[in-house]
Amino acid sequence: MKLYNRTKCPDEILQPLLRIAGQSVGAHTAGVIVILSQGRYRRESGGHAHSASAIKRSFTANRWVRTDGGYVTITIPNMQGTDYRSKDAVDLAFAFLRIAAHEFGHIRDMQRGLGLMPWSKAQPGKRRPRWAVRPEEIRAVNYTDDALDKLRRTRAADDAVLALAEWFEKAAQHFACLLQNFAV
Ligand SMILES: [Zn+2]
Repeated sequence: MKLYNRTKCPDEILQPLLRIAGQSVGAHTAGVIVILSQGRYRRESGGHAHSASAIKRSFTANRWVRTDGGYVTITIPNMQGTDYRSKDAVDLAFAFLRIAAHEFGHIRDMQRGLGLMPWSKAQPGKRRPRWAVRPEEIRAVNYTDDALDKLRRTRAADDAVLALAEWFEKAAQHFACLLQNFAV
């Protein structure tokens, strides 16, 4: 996996989750590019999977970097919320795993030559089908559900989710602390 981590959360916390997510849906993760950024306001993670054999962007120092079947972009939430409790942090961390598994589900399809279906794209004069009925989305949702069911029972996934939850909680506390200092 080629990780471009533009968040404040360390690679050691995010990389195991990404690897678990990719493996759980049967994607080859070795050469896949993952670009992580931190949202400004969003409170949940969000993601996209893209098909490309190589990409060239500012974060690759404008050099072409090969991908193994595509690349994924994921945004992690900013913890500038109020009143985060441990339970919320675990939910947020699990949401990250769910989104990563979903995006790697698309990567898996691209690696197997099942990309976007032609009719998923807008036809002239027509709207493209709704997101939820696109075949590639139905496939990705199915893999993710199956994968998450299995992951819930594994120690490795549990540890990785809790490590991210802990980081979220610390980040939220740190922010609350900054706010307090500011008020004083
Ligand atoms: Zn999707």
